[in-house]
Amino acid sequence: MSLLRIKAHSRRLSLLKTLEDVMTTRGFCFCRKITWEHEGASTWECYCHCDDCRRACSAPAVAWFGVPSKSFRWTGQALKTLQSSKGVYRHFCSDCGRP
Ligand SMILES: [Zn+2]
Ligand SMILES: [Zn+2]
Repeated sequence: MSLLRIKAHSRRLSLLKTLEDVMTTRGFCFCRKITWEHEGASTWECYCHCDDCRRACSAPAVAWFGVPSKSFRWTGQALKTLQSSKGVYRHFCSDCGRP
């Protein structure tokens, strides 16, 4: 890759990072009664395959991401909360049961 192409590529990447920083991401549970949104990019992402995550989601691994709490808000109906282990609270929809 030439130096010119590398510079153009890094300009595009910095533009994408800027868009990611200002965009709003929205999500919902299976029945769409629980909704949420956050602004900006996630601060971390991971896959977890601990017993609790696997049982809570009936999956071999669960993908998680983290955002600053000030940029996140629940926007749908109220959540049910279950303490699955010390200091760990799992929220889910009381209608469809999805986390
Ligand atoms: Zn639901
Ligand atoms: Zn886990």
